[in-house]
Amino acid sequence: MSEDWQQQLRGSLRQPEQIALRFGLNVEMVRRIARIFRVQITPYYAGLIKAKGDPIYRQVVPDVAELSDGGVLDPLAEDEDSPVPSIVHRYPDRVLFLVSHCCASYCRFCTRKRKVGDASKINPRAIEEGINYIRNHPEVRDVIISGGDPLMLGDRKLEFILHSLREIPHVEILRIGTRMPCFLPQRITRRLVNMLKRYHPLYINVHFNHPDEITPEAARALNLLADAGIPLGNQTVLLRGVNDDPYVMRHLMQKLLTVRVRPYYIYQADYVKGTEHFRTTVEKGLEIMESLRGWTSGLAVPYFVIDAPGGGGKIPVLPKYVQEITAEKVVLRNYQGEIFVYPQASEKKEKSRVELTCPDIGANLPFP
Ligand SMILES: *Cc1c(COP(=O)(O)O)cnc(C)c1O
Ligand code: SF4
Repeated sequence: MSEDWQQQLRGSLRQPEQIALRFGLNVEMVRRIARIFRVQITPYYAGLIKAKGDPIYRQVVPDVAELSDGGVLDPLAEDEDSPVPSIVHRYPDRVLFLVSHCCASYCRFCTRKRKVGDASKINPRAIEEGINYIRNHPEVRDVIISGGDPLMLGDRKLEFILHSLREIPHVEILRIGTRMPCFLPQRITRRLVNMLKRYHPLYINVHFNHPDEITPEAARALNLLADAGIPLGNQTVLLRGVNDDPYVMRHLMQKLLTVRVRPYYIYQADYVKGTEHFRTTVEKGLEIMESLRGWTSGLAVPYFVIDAPGGGGKIPVLPKYVQEITAEKVVLRNYQGEIFVYPQASEKKEKSRVELTCPDIGANLPFP
């Protein structure tokens, strides 16, 4: 039995000739780009394009700028933190588990261009190895199932993975990172959701970059997931010509809340080869953060992070709200630019501060 979403996938735009014809591009250029990084667009997502070069178009239609220099292949040095091919273990208590090398459509700005679309990197044996790695590492209490897009797997394969992970006693929470509600909302079926809800606590992070992506179809998919008790977060990439505008970004964050998705991260675009035309300055991100905090619901304000080149992990970047901090006072600026002074606690109280221990990590952490 073939479901609606599988038919959508089969009918996706992927042949260079087909893409060139549909968008009026040079076939040879599309072929050259497709050899470097796969091109594919679901009919549903292609249907959201209103004009050539609009924010939907830019995310998935190949551009000659992808052939330009600048950027590196593995900017986050994920390969260095990869003990087995399907695992990235960078943080103390959680891992990224890559279970699929394909996506419903391919984002032209993808950070994992080097891996995504390459079947040799992620396969059933690599998945077994990943599960074994997690089983043998009792410090892993949070597994982020990622890829590619994990929901490209059929329900049975996905359930095998969730089931295997749930049998590991030290794995407390499961997360899935997926762009399906955006690219192929038909993938979120009642059957999928009924399966997912047997593996709680399960969190899902989705990926929307523009308010036009939140269609009635996407809303239906997200509501199904939320009704199954799955907390939904969103990750957005700050992209030139897509959402590098405070008004567009605020509208996106507000619209996400109406479909029960909590904005989680806005990422500064990574320094990836072939994506230079998408990058903005960091100041643009700060300007956007300034336009959110205070001006709209705190729930609509995510963290703005830079995934540090070289494998430093995600580092939050904040507008400068603390202007001065001394033993006596903290000088603060509010969202409207007004200055306020908070008197510090006395030194005496400071000295009586206790050191708390955190037995789980076995290290003494001085909590402020
Ligand atoms: C983003 C990421 C995580 C998860 O980070 P959170 O801040 O906990 O959401 C874990 N591992 C890697 C390698 C990541 O890039
Ligand atoms: S959905 Fe995610 S993994 Fe797939 S191409 Fe887009 S950014 Fe890359």
